[in-house]
Amino acid sequence: MFTYANPEGWPLASGDLVRLRLQGRRHVGLVVEPLAELPPELAGRRILPIEAVHQSAAVDPHWQALLAQVARDCHTSLFRTLKTALPPGWLGQRAERHASAPRRRIRVEARSDAAVPADATAGLTPRQLQALELLERAGGAAWLSPFSAATGIGRSVLEALERRGLVRLRRMADGLEEGAVLLPGSEGVAPQLERPQVLTPQQDEVLAAIRAAAPGQALLLWGVTGAGKTEVYLQAAADALAAGRSALLLTPEIGLIPQLLERCRRRFGSGVLEYHSGCSEGQRIRTWRRCLASGSPVLVVGTRSAVFLPIPQLGLIVLDEEHDSSYKQDSPMPCYHARDVARQRALRSGARLVLGSATPCLETWLSCQGSQPSTTLLRLPQRIGSRPLPPVRLVDMRHELEEGHRRLISRPLMERLAALPACGEQAVVLVPRRGYSSFLSCRSCGEVVQCPHCDVALTVHRSRAAGGGGAGRQWLRCHWCDHRQEIGERCGACGSTAFKPFGAGTQRVMEQLEAELEGLRVLRFDRDTTRGREGHRRLLDQFAAGEADVLVGTQMLAKGMDLPDVTLAAVLAADGLLHRPDLRAGEQSLQLLLQLAGRAGRGDRPGEVLVQTYCPEHPVIRHLVDGRYEAFLEEELALRRSAGLVPFSRACLLRLAGPSASGTATAAAALAERIRPGVVAAGWLVIGPAPAPVARVAGRSRWQLLLHGPTASVLPLASEAELRAGLPQGVSLAIDPDPLEL
Ligand code: ADP
Ligand code: ZN
Ligand code: ZN
Repeated sequence: MFTYANPEGWPLASGDLVRLRLQGRRHVGLVVEPLAELPPELAGRRILPIEAVHQSAAVDPHWQALLAQVARDCHTSLFRTLKTALPPGWLGQRAERHASAPRRRIRVEARSDAAVPADATAGLTPRQLQALELLERAGGAAWLSPFSAATGIGRSVLEALERRGLVRLRRMADGLEEGAVLLPGSEGVAPQLERPQVLTPQQDEVLAAIRAAAPGQALLLWGVTGAGKTEVYLQAAADALAAGRSALLLTPEIGLIPQLLERCRRRFGSGVLEYHSGCSEGQRIRTWRRCLASGSPVLVVGTRSAVFLPIPQLGLIVLDEEHDSSYKQDSPMPCYHARDVARQRALRSGARLVLGSATPCLETWLSCQGSQPSTTLLRLPQRIGSRPLPPVRLVDMRHELEEGHRRLISRPLMERLAALPACGEQAVVLVPRRGYSSFLSCRSCGEVVQCPHCDVALTVHRSRAAGGGGAGRQWLRCHWCDHRQEIGERCGACGSTAFKPFGAGTQRVMEQLEAELEGLRVLRFDRDTTRGREGHRRLLDQFAAGEADVLVGTQMLAKGMDLPDVTLAAVLAADGLLHRPDLRAGEQSLQLLLQLAGRAGRGDRPGEVLVQTYCPEHPVIRHLVDGRYEAFLEEELALRRSAGLVPFSRACLLRLAGPSASGTATAAAALAERIRPGVVAAGWLVIGPAPAPVARVAGRSRWQLLLHGPTASVLPLASEAELRAGLPQGVSLAIDPDPLEL
């Protein structure tokens, strides 16, 4: 952010775009704050002037207030927040590109029947009638110049029709070639659009509740996969558009964008906008401008950063799969959660907020409880067509071991897999993502070694042998408090020697699997094989086309896939999920496993879920089997209340990263000492520093400090800038005030 002078005395306000020079080059800048006087630190300096006003009120003041709040809540600067919110390359573009008046194009639109008086076509000339008919055939709307060129109908004919209220000519800035969103009720103009489904009585009730909700109200739509939530979103969006308001549909993963976009475009036409990391820079800027320039309502489909789009007149925000941790940004700062931002946005803009999930997160569920809940709970308990959810079968891997089977795939799973091709069925197999260090567990009794202070699983660390190469020494370490201990030879609970680190890398597991599954056609679905915008889609298309029997993959596998031939969903090593040293490991594991279970049996044939584990008594596994997610939430809540964990306390994570392990560790320890007095005085605790669960990423060592304090209390921390100022060069810091994961 820079300070400029306003010598011409233009009435500038925050949200205006202005032209100016920076280091001799012309740019467009966003006015963040008009200042009454020069800041003292700039006294006596020459201040460059603003050269012209580019666009007044380019962004809504509500929007800026929202960003200021996000910056405060995330303990960071407005500048960093703007950097996250604005599309890359939008500001700071060379102003020359804008210097000439933007090229305008004219869109011709037939007025929908409702708006046109019945006798309006009386007395039209044959030419005018022909123009109307041709426009009708073009789908009700067209760009003027190609339309004229193709039909020979000139502009004057259309203007005459406009005077009679039969068509509308709209001047649009260049770059808005995409057709306008077609409103419901104009299906007659564009018969190719899909009609809304006739809702089931339950869906109808839910939609009525959304309609009846007060502006700014949040609603949780809790419905199993396949319950018809998306259909409700689409009809709620249609409502908003019909009322002249915009709608924003968010989905957690870029891989889910194509199918949601397709459903929206089938229903609302090609004008549906998209905004996510798969868009090119130009596309993102176009969507951004389209939101700013649009006088008419828009429908946008996007991932978490789309929550910042300056959408006008927002009437509806939907967060599908609201429990998904991809809505949280871990880095760079601001470490915001799109759900929190969406709540704020809904309040400020009077939009309704619909949070959809089959497995809502504990906080959202909690916000629906009590006598005056802040969120309204709506349920869709049944799948469309009443298809049953598949039963869950456990394979106790301890028995496999007892009987001498040491392979990754148990005999029951192997049998099921081997039988697939003969019946033309398919399976998905989940291998929990690598990245978290492994923990020490007993294959005979399921015991996992925990930290004596923190009640989380200790993780296995291996030091690289000096000089590189060769296996180093191994020990156990806590990622919360840095407690360390030796690795024992035998299980402390049962004395077994089958006491080994658990959690091999995905890559190795995949290779081993492919070897064990000889004779089956296997496709791999993970970060490596799904690169690029269409990567997910391509693999899924291959699998859907029956080019493989088994799809093996990481977490991504569980999301959004709807394939009728999949009758088996299996989890190879559920334990890898259960024992992560994380604040929400239990909740997130169960969400993932239930979601995975939802992949099986979506077609006519019933499905089954098969889970391999050493811990069949674990609460997550128990509730996976009985399918009682809400009972799990209640137990989990009681457990967290008694342990004083989130949301009965606040946590804040300080993440440090630097090129050298020892340098970063020293910086983390020094930071801990620096903040400790203030933190402790405020009734908070400092835990750590400890190495991050993923201790080294892209050549940088990562350490972290965990702070714990009372709920709803403010962070007892100096500003981000001050905290950073005390760090050695090369060591970076991120402050995550409400971390989802460690
Ligand atoms: P969810 O989003 O909860 O997983 P969807 O909205 O995708 O559920 O619905 C699941 C399937 O049922 C989709 O194929 C959808 O087209 C269909 N469907 C949804 N609502 C209805 C309805 N009212 N009548 C008939 N089919 C429906
Ligand atoms: Zn044991
Ligand atoms: Zn510990």
